[in-house]
Amino acid sequence: MIGDQAAPASGDGAGRAGVLLDAGALTRCRRRVHLDHDPSAAGAVRALPDPALEQRRADASEHRERIGAALAEAAGGSWHPVEVPGPAGARAARTAELVAEGAPLIWDAVLPLDRGAGRRGSADLLVRLPGGGYVPLLVVRRRITDPGEGARTTAVTDPFPQRARTDPDRKVRSSPRDLLALAQLTRMLEAAGWAPSGHGPPVGGVIGMDADVVVWHDLAAGHWPGGRGTMAEYDARFADRRAVAEAAAAGRPALAQPSRITECRRCPWWPTCEAELEAADDVSIVAHGETGRLLRTAGVGTVAALAELDPAGPVPPELPVPLPGPPFADLVALARARGQGRSVVRRSESVPVPRADVEVDVDMESFGESGAYLWGALLTHPGGRREGDAEPGYRAFATWEPLPTSDEGRSFAEFWTWLTGVRDATRASGRTFAAYCYNEQAENRWMLGSAARFAGAPGMPSTVQVQAFIDDPGWVDLFAVVSRWFLCTHGKGLKKIAPAAGFAWRDPEAGGENSMRWYRDAVGMDGGEPDATQRERLLDYNADDVAATHALREWMSSDRVREVPLVTEL
Ligand code: SF4
Repeated sequence: MIGDQAAPASGDGAGRAGVLLDAGALTRCRRRVHLDHDPSAAGAVRALPDPALEQRRADASEHRERIGAALAEAAGGSWHPVEVPGPAGARAARTAELVAEGAPLIWDAVLPLDRGAGRRGSADLLVRLPGGGYVPLLVVRRRITDPGEGARTTAVTDPFPQRARTDPDRKVRSSPRDLLALAQLTRMLEAAGWAPSGHGPPVGGVIGMDADVVVWHDLAAGHWPGGRGTMAEYDARFADRRAVAEAAAAGRPALAQPSRITECRRCPWWPTCEAELEAADDVSIVAHGETGRLLRTAGVGTVAALAELDPAGPVPPELPVPLPGPPFADLVALARARGQGRSVVRRSESVPVPRADVEVDVDMESFGESGAYLWGALLTHPGGRREGDAEPGYRAFATWEPLPTSDEGRSFAEFWTWLTGVRDATRASGRTFAAYCYNEQAENRWMLGSAARFAGAPGMPSTVQVQAFIDDPGWVDLFAVVSRWFLCTHGKGLKKIAPAAGFAWRDPEAGGENSMRWYRDAVGMDGGEPDATQRERLLDYNADDVAATHALREWMSSDRVREVPLVTEL
């Protein structure tokens, strides 16, 4: 598919010939497009590469290779891969040769740079239509259909749009990213003189995660707000992103400013943008995304200005009601708390946390989509330990075979057997039991997923049993408790809130992203020897995570929590 790499801030991306944008720029933050092309930003601080993203890219590449091999086998003599090592220019030249020869299917195609318009891109497959001309096809690793009807599809082994039929079992799951990428390739094919003529509206195909069909998109159909077609939406967006990039490359006033949005979490420019936003006291530090934009438009551009508003009063008339995001009163309280240097404030006098005679804090470590390799558990007996009770303390149930591995099923089954064994013995003795985690989505997903993937393995529960555990009031999500009873100015992550309870991780580099780097080393994922030190580090990290949830709930149940000011006291 079209590469995710932004155009560089020099050379092809911003040189004499002007900027060259790949399709990724169309769905990226506009400020990111600016920074990617601003030569003066070349030395600015950037975040380390996100290992989860790197893993997703590696998985996508593997998926693509698999699909390519299957297609090649089915296509026989029609299949023409661009198998030229070296730079994109060489592959573009080979693609041009294959187009000139009229090759029916061109795999791994690189299109000629469209310097006039400022585009660059490559297609997983170019499909030649009867009568000449090519349409693009992308291979992606996400779902592209839902149950339903109406998608225009062909078999994967028959990737020709002229044979597409209305699918009685699938409806399109729309992905703006795919549609815009297909539109960019369509414009590039037109610029190269390789687009079909006289074949009706432009089309492009996508093969998704399940690789069960090719979905063919009509790029003129009105899928976008206001009934705009994909090509029209693409042209407008491309013109905007190109203007942003060109202004940046030429050192003209920036056409895009930083504003905190969801994408910031995984953006390499976050350290730079964060510093700018902090220095400007920008309102988006507290009110992210669209909420921040609306506040700024209404003249509330800083955290200080937001803090001045009356949380109990009506929403200022210039703001839309309801304002998206958190309630208005919460936004003002967050702004005030931040202004006073507080990371946490309480919403109510007491903070109810379910407690039990026997308690287990649980934390799972996973590696991208590859699997969950470690289940950690901290057992405590607040109601008093009785004879026959399991030894209190931390336990780890882990596999150190590189994921994906069936040994993951073994370690999960052992964890499950131990956890439910403690629960059942506790309840059988007439006592109460509770298990805790922080943000149950991940744990629930992997418990259910493991039960499904390793069904039938020794000790493996059924998904019905796992669901019953999840639905039991004895499974407590502390993230939900924190969300309900506190406002947190720096986010509600465990690493942010546990320090308020006096907890500190032993490892100063403890964090989800770092743990993924340690994991690679711990299992020798990159071809090296497994690193026992990193294994110990992961175990300590996991042990600290469960100790943190334990410390957090002890704190919330104690009078110490009253030291945190109430929202009404700000
Ligand atoms: S950190 Fe956020 S605002 Fe800055 S470029 Fe990235 S996504 Fe855009």
